[in-house]
Amino acid sequence: MNLTTFDKQHIWHPYAAMGTPVYPVVSANGVYIKLANGQELIDGMASWWSVIHGYNHPILNAAIHKQVDSMAHVMFGGLTHQPAVDLARLLIEITPNNLENVFFSDSGSVAVEVAIKMAIQYCYAVGNPKKQKLLTIRNGYHGDTFGAMAVCDPVNGMHNIFSHVLAQHYFAENNINSFQKLLEQHHNEIAAVILEPLLQGAGGMRIYSAEFLRSVRSLCDEYKVLLILDEIATGFGRTGTLFACERADISPDILCVGKALTGGYMSLAATLTSKQVSEVICSHPPGVFMHGPTFMANPLACSVAAASINLLLESPWQQTISNIEQQLIDSLSACAALPQVADVRILGAVGIVELQDSIDVATMQQAFVDKGVWIRPFRNLIYIMPPYIITPQQLSQLTQAIFEVIKATEPA
Ligand SMILES: *Cc1c(COP(=O)(O)O)cnc(C)c1O
Repeated sequence: MNLTTFDKQHIWHPYAAMGTPVYPVVSANGVYIKLANGQELIDGMASWWSVIHGYNHPILNAAIHKQVDSMAHVMFGGLTHQPAVDLARLLIEITPNNLENVFFSDSGSVAVEVAIKMAIQYCYAVGNPKKQKLLTIRNGYHGDTFGAMAVCDPVNGMHNIFSHVLAQHYFAENNINSFQKLLEQHHNEIAAVILEPLLQGAGGMRIYSAEFLRSVRSLCDEYKVLLILDEIATGFGRTGTLFACERADISPDILCVGKALTGGYMSLAATLTSKQVSEVICSHPPGVFMHGPTFMANPLACSVAAASINLLLESPWQQTISNIEQQLIDSLSACAALPQVADVRILGAVGIVELQDSIDVATMQQAFVDKGVWIRPFRNLIYIMPPYIITPQQLSQLTQAIFEVIKATEPA
């Protein structure tokens, strides 16, 4: 049985039915994904925000090779190692100043679970055990596990069939008055606010202002509610600053990072907290934080993450992102004139074209592949967040393909 036939019959893919057509990949190098039929596609997705330096990078390959020869894995209960310490040190250095303690986990969703549990345990420890709810805004996405699903948009968050088993939280409209009202009314039950700063990802690819985020921070202070920022998509330079919250000049009490953390090499995420949060948790019964993944701080993942962050910091990443942003503004604006297009949004190295109607993903996917690019739309959104190493020529192939593929569809 050949590869695709077996895949169709036996393997699930993200948010897909069994049997959904998929393209077999044999290798990936730089910004190119090579299909089994020999075709090479320019990657517009950076494998969902993560492959910021491109595929098969010699420095990242070397980091993994070096680590695997000394220790691929060891449990983190009662043990520690250099890769974890190096990475934690780097994360503490590059994230907002107040964040000093790092909890490593395997995926973004788990980093969010950890953040939520920390916020609730913090409130329990300070003698507010009734504060167990979260407040967020509409159109968010924070992951696919149960705690994370419960703070995704309740309508378009892709999880509404589970709503009866999810924890019930508060959802503000995306304006500060609605947010303030809910906080005023319910702060006695709210442990934390959770938000994706500035750019909401899979919940709708929406951008909101730094001013909104600043107001959220001061309202959280006023009502003594923790602020969790989920920078799993926005972290590591994607929006133009190393972390999106820097634009608002604020720090969260708890920060989640993932996706680009390892440059897309391995699954790893981290939840960072202020000393205040971790000290309160550890100095009240039960005196420990109640979480501990089997593969916590995997040494291979930690080494490649540290190598990826160093690679980023040593590169002229600000100029790179700003060049990509400018080119996206210049080239995607043409799409706004098409009758099929509702909106064009750009932030840093992220370009979003929102269509009037939802897309038939399989058909549009094939149209993009025919043009030699890898772009995976969802709902009515075509979006790209390419590897930072993309050249202007490669980027214009992506934006040109978007324009042509939309143009070829029936107008709304
Ligand atoms: C992708 C994503 C997650 C979930 O991360 P996984 O690694 O897929 O579990 C959480 N929050 C945001 C903002 C994301 O973009």
